[in-house]
Amino acid sequence: MATATTHQDRPPLVSVTPQGLYCQAGNFHIDPWRPVERALVTHAHGDHARSGSKRYLGARAGRGLLQRRLGADAVIDTLEYGETLKVGDTTVSFHPAGHVLGSAQIRVEHRGEVWIISGDYKRTPDPTCAPFEVVRCHTFITEATFGLPIYRWDDTGLVAQDILRWWDANREAGRSAVLFCYALGKAQRLLAELGKLTDRPAYVHGAVNGLVTAYREAGIAMLPTQLVSETEKGTSFAGALVLAPPSAAGSTWMRRFGEAETGFASGWMRVRGNRRRRGYDRGFVLSDHADWPDLLRTVADTQAEKVLVTHGYTDPLSHYLRERGVDASPLATPFEGEAED
Ligand SMILES: [Zn+2]
Ligand SMILES: [Zn+2]
Repeated sequence: MATATTHQDRPPLVSVTPQGLYCQAGNFHIDPWRPVERALVTHAHGDHARSGSKRYLGARAGRGLLQRRLGADAVIDTLEYGETLKVGDTTVSFHPAGHVLGSAQIRVEHRGEVWIISGDYKRTPDPTCAPFEVVRCHTFITEATFGLPIYRWDDTGLVAQDILRWWDANREAGRSAVLFCYALGKAQRLLAELGKLTDRPAYVHGAVNGLVTAYREAGIAMLPTQLVSETEKGTSFAGALVLAPPSAAGSTWMRRFGEAETGFASGWMRVRGNRRRRGYDRGFVLSDHADWPDLLRTVADTQAEKVLVTHGYTDPLSHYLRERGVDASPLATPFEGEAED
């Protein structure tokens, strides 16, 4: 008679290899940082979706963004959220992560053992993507971009009202308001939230514009937008709101706006020193990642026996969880949190 083995006795279903997170039972990688045969991707941010792999598998809602990121020649298969697929000896499925359009947690099941690889996620409502779905699992690989108790988000509607007030004040003063934000996800979320409050068009930087188009093609309602580079020479931007990626700050591209105030919309703006150090006039605290209470809530909701922490403040979060009796440990990966919030 065979001895009963529990999944705790088996080697980990997913482990870190030089190429990235790897599942041997299914012979696939998840968000690999080097080219592989088969990559399952959680979402289209650059540190998760890297080009060069033979085949990709992602959530259908993110197909357009993935193709844009990975290139027109990339072979991308998709599944609807919740749809299952046999891959090797495993069954995989994608579940909404609430992070950006098409973002997914990846569920991997092998002989009754279930792992969830969260990718990036948030629990705050976001009109541009499907809401986070709690999925029970034995092992939960969580991100920890904002895994410190100081990171707590305000109501998104209030932040949007704040931004509108700032825009209005600059309009009255005849200045333009240049709001820096990550080009994929944050910019579209801002345009969707502002679209609930006003119908005045906003200007966008070229890096933001293509992604806005992709979101519009997916049916997401946002403020009307106009591409800065398509305006006639000599156009006055007095009173305008302009959305641009942080890389445009301080560049010659900024000169056309004349007298302008700058703002930055990011979870990093929770810490006052960050705004001053980066030289923005205003900081708006808005993140596409889970804040501290939501990281803890999510770990509890999954009912996971084991938690692996990646992407950000891995040590503080896993330490905190361990002190509270959760079997948690950091998992070293090169995912970036800061660049994309
Ligand atoms: Zn991301
Ligand atoms: Zn990330």
